[in-house]
Amino acid sequence: MPEVREIAATTPGMPASDGAGVRMTRIIGTPELNLLDPFLLLDCFESDRPQDYIGGFPSHPHRGFETVTYLLAGRMRHKDNAGNEGVIEPGGVQWMTAGRGIVHSEMPEQEDGLLRGFQLWVNLPARAKMTAPGYQEYPPSGVPLEEREDGTRVRVIAGATSEGTRGVVRNDWVKPTYLDVELPAGAEFEQQVGTDDNAFLFVIEGELAVGDGREPLQHRMLGILGAGDTVRVGSVGGARFLLVSAQPLREPVARGGPFVMNTREEVLQAFDDYQHNRF
Ligand code: FE
Repeated sequence: MPEVREIAATTPGMPASDGAGVRMTRIIGTPELNLLDPFLLLDCFESDRPQDYIGGFPSHPHRGFETVTYLLAGRMRHKDNAGNEGVIEPGGVQWMTAGRGIVHSEMPEQEDGLLRGFQLWVNLPARAKMTAPGYQEYPPSGVPLEEREDGTRVRVIAGATSEGTRGVVRNDWVKPTYLDVELPAGAEFEQQVGTDDNAFLFVIEGELAVGDGREPLQHRMLGILGAGDTVRVGSVGGARFLLVSAQPLREPVARGGPFVMNTREEVLQAFDDYQHNRF
């Protein structure tokens, strides 16, 4: 018998500003939800007002974790000190392993129009925090799309669906699942997840009915899922949502802005290394 996960908690996140005045909703990494191990942060950008995003994220460092940028609308150009550069387009994904250190910029490649997307920070285990920086980027056409008979469409960024479609991103550390699911009206969706995983849903459009309890999860809400091995959701009127899960690391987390390490000393070392051009 599948053990179906029910909603354990919900949060709408809170308004935040980061980079050079980019306005967003911070959903994980807030006083209310500081951490959903191994997920350190989830930001949602959604604005058609250039003043909300035009400043972008000029040159800044990261160490100790991975950043996953997934766009739904608009374009972002990124550039880093390892010589990587590219433009993320709607439906495209960039998975950056900061490891021991990277310095990059993330700037909107547009002067007006809608910019919409997500940035998720995935923690690295202690043994991988100082690994070499790495970088995986895929255009929309490179992200596997699973189309089911009932009209459900699943974009598989990482992990694998219960029907066997494998995600494009390789991850050797926390082996996350990251799905973008479009559910037609009346359809049901089921996905196996590890019993040990922390898992969440975020509703991009419409409204979900979650678990056997059919608990409603509204537009722009994050739902943290409780224990179980199966995620089961439906939608009366149709919905689009993210399903993200991974095994928790259960290690100490020391945060210092763009650096996330295991101890305070390691964070101070990161600031020192950055200031002395050792990235
Ligand atoms: Fe960044």
